[in-house]
Amino acid sequence: ETFAAGPYPGRVSELGLDSAPVATGQALTDQAHPELDLWRTLPAKQQPNWPDQAALRGAYAELSALPPLVIAPEVRSLTERLADVARGEAFLLQGGDCAETFAANTANNIRDKVKTLLQMAVVLTYGASTPVVKVARIAGQYAKPRSADIETSTGLPSYRGDAVNGLEATLAARLPDPYRMVSAYHHSAAALNLIRAFATGGFSSLSQVHEWNKAFVRDSAAGRRYELMATDIERALAFMAACGIDLDRTSELGGVELYTSHEGLLLDYERALTRVEESTGQVCDLSAHMIWIGERTRDLDGAHMEFLSRVTNPIGCKIGPKASPDEVLAIAERINPEHIPGRLTLISRMGTGRVRDALPAVVEKVNAAGHPVVWACDPMHGNTRDVGGVKTRHFDDVLDEVLGFFEVHKDLGTHPGGLHIELTGEDVTECLGGGQEIGEADLGGRYETACDPRLNTSQALELAFLVAEMLQA
Ligand code: PEP
Ligand code: MN
Repeated sequence: ETFAAGPYPGRVSELGLDSAPVATGQALTDQAHPELDLWRTLPAKQQPNWPDQAALRGAYAELSALPPLVIAPEVRSLTERLADVARGEAFLLQGGDCAETFAANTANNIRDKVKTLLQMAVVLTYGASTPVVKVARIAGQYAKPRSADIETSTGLPSYRGDAVNGLEATLAARLPDPYRMVSAYHHSAAALNLIRAFATGGFSSLSQVHEWNKAFVRDSAAGRRYELMATDIERALAFMAACGIDLDRTSELGGVELYTSHEGLLLDYERALTRVEESTGQVCDLSAHMIWIGERTRDLDGAHMEFLSRVTNPIGCKIGPKASPDEVLAIAERINPEHIPGRLTLISRMGTGRVRDALPAVVEKVNAAGHPVVWACDPMHGNTRDVGGVKTRHFDDVLDEVLGFFEVHKDLGTHPGGLHIELTGEDVTECLGGGQEIGEADLGGRYETACDPRLNTSQALELAFLVAEMLQA
């Protein structure tokens, strides 16, 4: 496979951009593919106020010349897997940090997150009796939309993710630096390298992942409630082994498929890593396999919709409780006018109080128009609450939104296709409840997120067992 990158450093100077004073993202256009830069003419929400335009051009040129993080054939495979989900023949599990940070991009954190996702996937595979498509929020989830430019508690510019500025509460750290996008690329590459090794080695084999689940059920009070299902899974695996299936191999191809995803927020970053495959002419954003559009940047007339409608990756779009059925249908038409199954995943994040009344009309409208979308549920972002100035979520709300999502799809005869979760492989205390009964007083113990509260390992596994039960019902 060969790729024609976006403007190379050489071409940037050919275009005379080095000396031209330009506003944010205003003139880095590619003459061969002008449509990929049309977004620059539209309002782009949530973009950093880069103080140094020359630095932005430098960072952009550097990113444009670097090798892609993923390749187009992998992106096409994910589209096919998601097409299975859209047809009701598979289930999507998407999860990871709200915001990755450079400091937490360590071997142990990556290992534990992958481990948790794989453990959830085995349980869900059993519950759904279908393959589970595994997509991590990892290796690139470094940019965040914020509700305000200035943080009220400190009066400093808001933290916008490690690809933009630093979390530390000083003016120097909070100054946006475009070269942080280059660092985000290198951190993503390092994470992806480890993830690919985990995916092909014995680390991810079915027997290994099941051993971890057995340990969770055996060694924790929270896990013991799921002993029955764990025993059922054990029996199913014994049956498979008796049939001659080698559980120590990860798959026929010797590897588990684990895809990457992040919010496509920083359009200069996404554009710089977008490449045209020479053999097919296909335009792919090769910063990750799947890219999603956030609730705050999904305007039909905005730059994000414009740019992401032009890359062929599977695209997710968050749908909040205020999205009207017509608006969501317009999003589907915009992103997927050709009705390609697997191209679009609509990720509803309505909140436990709204999912049952707001979701049905949206599903009906999109379904009636014949759109083959994946319906996924993000039970995190509609359920955030403030406890004494600490952002948290209650496990019961998370579970109830998933339950509501399943009820809505059961009523309509549509496929509840997947889950989108913020989680970590660590024993943090950021979300309330769950089998460990984390209370308000416990939040201070290990509250480590750089942005939104994540389910800890135990809560994430419990959710998988409970959703597996819903899938069987
Ligand atoms: C997120 O997924 O971290 C996020 C910001 O979600 P949303 O766009 O749905 O608010
Ligand atoms: Mn979040």
